[in-house]
Formats: sequence, structure tokens, C-alpha cells
Amino acid sequence: MIALVDCNSFFCSCERLFRPDLKNKPVVVLSNNDGCIISRTQEAKQLGLKMGGPYFEIKSFCRKYDVHVFSSNFSLYTNISDRVMSTLEKFSSLVEIYSVDEAFLDLSTCQNDLKVMGKKIKQTIDQEIGIPVGVGIAKTKALAKVANYLAKKSDEVVVLDNEEVVNDALKLVPIEDLWGVGRQNQIKMKALGIMTAYDFKNYDNEKHIQSVFTKTGLQLKKELEGISCFSLSKATPKKKSILSSRSFGQVVTSKEELKKSIAYHISLAAQSLRKQNSLCSQLYIFLRTSYYGKTEFHSKTTQINFSVPVDDTLFLIEQGMKAVDKIYQQNILYKKAGVGLEKIVDNDSYQLGLFDRPNNERKTLMNLMDQINNREGKFTLKSMACGVDNSLWKMKQDFKSPRYTTSWNDLYKLK
Ligand SMILES: [Mg+2]
Repeated sequence: MIALVDCNSFFCSCERLFRPDLKNKPVVVLSNNDGCIISRTQEAKQLGLKMGGPYFEIKSFCRKYDVHVFSSNFSLYTNISDRVMSTLEKFSSLVEIYSVDEAFLDLSTCQNDLKVMGKKIKQTIDQEIGIPVGVGIAKTKALAKVANYLAKKSDEVVVLDNEEVVNDALKLVPIEDLWGVGRQNQIKMKALGIMTAYDFKNYDNEKHIQSVFTKTGLQLKKELEGISCFSLSKATPKKKSILSSRSFGQVVTSKEELKKSIAYHISLAAQSLRKQNSLCSQLYIFLRTSYYGKTEFHSKTTQINFSVPVDDTLFLIEQGMKAVDKIYQQNILYKKAGVGLEKIVDNDSYQLGLFDRPNNERKTLMNLMDQINNREGKFTLKSMACGVDNSLWKMKQDFKSPRYTTSWNDLYKLK
């Protein structure tokens, strides 16, 4: 059997963790640059606040109904997520981290009653981390998703362990809420008279399913029948390209400021590249204006190829700075900048050419920098190219909470 554990309103729950006064109060978390709602509590939902709703439209509503608004604080959320995931490892030797707030657990060797097990998981995460979770348990991943969907509604652990219970559950899931069914497929399914997950499970023309919804569609149907097609995997696959980009809080025209932001993004991207033990042979950078700006849209990209794949932040920044010189234009109101690392290869499988020499001092320096930044917080040690004052191009984060768990300066203080 497989359990799906999913944190309730995860980002909001992380904020509440350090603000117990917000218990039972409406809370929302906004996307980058305080754009739109990406997480909301049950209370905010009940007020009618929608996911993806733009903040400027609901600003006065939030004030009126005393909705607590937070800018996203991803360093806090990832840290809490890591804690949740490592706590889950106590319950199963195979935990697949599916997203920042969701994980599948293999419970096939579990000797206990599954409902009791589910309750124990819920309790432990609540006691040790303080995050509320929903637990759904069933034979396959897709069914565990269904169980979890129902668990969310009742705040109970839902176990789907026999045909009858499974069928009853599937009848309660509208097709648009079934895991893995995108908007396009919903329309096609409804045209075929498939309104619920139960209808899909019982649709008897498998050939037709495969031709319309491809092999994955058929696999999903099999999963609902209790035949496992999506296996659990522990390893997170290595990224084939690594991107880092952000919109600025305000328009930027100065080349120096743009360079700082590119150096900043290269530092982040190169660190993730080293984290997954890879090298890259291509760097691209882009600068662009806002899509909704008063002036005409302007966007420029350039790429640099390296004959020897690299993971060295300082080298990449040097190249990035040259690239900015190449594409920067005066009098443009830049609103976004970003970088991408492409043509990524495994560090272990890469063979040095006959005339290439590994730069061991730089490797040691990069290792040391990663160690210090992992321990003391991002950008404790950085290239001066990133600048000291980033206020000109930094994101808009008017309502950001302290980084309680990842920054010494922001440690929670008892009042
Ligand atoms: Mg969730």
C-alpha cells in the first residue's frame, strides 16, 4: 500500500508556525513580487479568496476582513519542507518527495493497521514540526491521491482498501479534480460522458482511451483499477537545465545594476549545478522589459558555449558580465533578468581532454563557498560582482516574514 502525505495550505502553515496568533485566522501567501495568491488557509478560502487571484484586486478586501498577507519566504518553506520529509522517513524506507509539500510513502511492509499508521504520521508531523497534514492510503499512487483528496475534506485519514470503498470514493471525485488530468483532457473526457473518476475507471474501451489520452491516460485508468503503473522512486532526477530569474521590484536602467542581478542569478544557478554534481557547457542570459509596460516590449538573449564544461561560479560570472555588455541597451526600462545553464553533463562521467587541466584550487574554493553558504545562509560568501546593495533590482516583498529557521539574525524571539 502507498500513502500520500500532503501538507495543508503549506506556505500559510509555515507562516503560522511562528505566528500562533494567526491560528483560525484567514492567511494568504503571495507569489514573487507580491503578485497573486499562491497559498491560502481554509478561513481565507471561506471568505471567497481564490488561488491565483491578483493581489492588487483584493488589497482593500484583505484590509476590510483582516486577512493576513505574506510575501513568499521560500527559504523558510524549503527548510520546513526538508524537516517534514526527513520525519516521514521514520515511517518508510522508500519516500518519494513529490513536491515541496507532498510525498508518497511505500507502506507495503507495514504490519500495523493502516488507519492507525496514518494517524500516527499525522500526529508525529504535527507534534515534531507543527504542520497539519492530510494522509490518504491506497493500493496505487493514483488511488492514494484520491484518498488524500477525500482526507482533505474530512480531516480524517482515508484508507481505500477494498473494491467497494474504492468505487464509492471514485464517485466523489469530479474528473477535473483527478490527479494528472489536465484542462484539455477534462474537456475530451466530459465529451465522452466521463464526469467522475468512477466513470473513467469503468470506461470500457481501452483502445479508445489510449488513442485519445495516450499511454499515460491508460496507465492512470489502470491505477484506478488498482493495477500499479506508476512506481515510487526515491532519487530526484538531475535537472537538464537550471534556470534562475526574477522580475525586479521596479524598472532598472543601469547596466551596473543589471550586472549585479545577473551575477546573483549565476551564483544561485551554479550552486544548484554543483549540488547535483553536474557541469554545464552553455550559459545564456536574458534581459527584458515588462509585458505590460508603457513602452514597447523589448527582450534580448545571448548564449555562450564553453569547450570544457564548468561549474565555477566566478568563471561563469566573468562570462555573464561580458554577455551583459553585449546585449545591454541604454534607455530601456528593464523589468526582468535571468540566466540559464544548459548542456548539463555528469561531473563523474565527464572526461578531461588531453590538454585540459583541472583547476583544483578553484574547485576547493567552490566547495568551501557552498559549505559556508549552506551552513550560514545563502550569499554569506559571494562574488563582489553580486554587489552589496541590491535594493534597486530586488523583488518587491512588502510583507515578508523573518527567515526564522535559516538565518541567525531572524531567529524566533520569545516575547
Ligand atoms: Mg498541499
